[in-house]
Amino acid sequence: MAVRHTPTNIVHKGQEGGTTGCGTDTNKHPEHWVNTSLAITCNKDGCKN
Ligand SMILES: [Zn+2]
Repeated sequence: MAVRHTPTNIVHKGQEGGTTGCGTDTNKHPEHWVNTSLAITCNKDGCKN
């Protein structure tokens, strides 16, 4: 599962309503996150692995 951060267009591991692989809580700004099937583009630990 992947989730896109719309302000930056970076795709992270995770899903809406959860925490990304790199540790961002998507509940803090739920309007910024949308589930996607796109490839993960975040380079931080936890997302890229
Ligand atoms: Zn990430």
